[in-house]
Amino acid sequence: MACPKCHELDEAEVWTSVNNVDNPDVAQWLIDGFLFKHECPACGNVVTLNHDCLFDDAIHKTMILYVANPSKAEEALAALDARKPDGYAIRLVATQDELREKAAIFRDGLDDRAVEVSKQALFNRFVGIGEIEKEARALYGARTEDGGIVIEFVTHDGTAETVVPSDVYGGIADSFTDVQPPVVDRDWAMGVLSNWE
Ligand SMILES: [Zn+2]
Repeated sequence: MACPKCHELDEAEVWTSVNNVDNPDVAQWLIDGFLFKHECPACGNVVTLNHDCLFDDAIHKTMILYVANPSKAEEALAALDARKPDGYAIRLVATQDELREKAAIFRDGLDDRAVEVSKQALFNRFVGIGEIEKEARALYGARTEDGGIVIEFVTHDGTAETVVPSDVYGGIADSFTDVQPPVVDRDWAMGVLSNWE
C-alpha cells in the first residue's frame, strides 16, 4: 500500500481472522483499537484499514464477525452460521468499534445481551432526567473487581461513567435463555426493553 500522505510504499499486516488462544497478543491489540491501524514507517501517518475480520473467542466459544462491506454482511453471516463449530454463538457487528467493544465484553466473561440491555436502560434513564444528551453513545468500559459493569457515556464534551452493580447485571443476565441472536446491538436492546415495559 502507498501512504496517502508521503506516498511511501509499505506492506501492511492484515488480520482477517483472530483467535484469542492462538494469537492472544493480536486479540489484545484488537481490543485496544490497533488492529485496523497502520502506521507509515516513513512519516508516521496512521491510516485506518477497512477489511473483514472474524474474531474467535475460543475461550468463551463466541465468534464475532465484522464485514467491511455492509451489503455482504448477511451472506457472510449465513456462511459463518453454516460452518461454526458446535456450541459456538456468533455475532455480527456493524462497525470496527463494535467489534472491539464486543471482544472486550466476551474477554471479561460477560453476556453481551445483558451488557447491551444495561447500557440502554441506563442511557434511557440518564437522558430522561437530563443528565446526558440523547446523541451520547453508551459503551462498555470495564468490569470492576466486585463484578460491577462500568458503562461510559461519550458526549460531545467528554465522557461520564457509571457502574451497574454486580447483582443488577446478574439479574438481567439471568433473564436470557440459550437463544443467541446474531445481532445484539442498541436497536436489539431497545426492542428487549420495550417488551419488558
Ligand atoms: Zn507516510
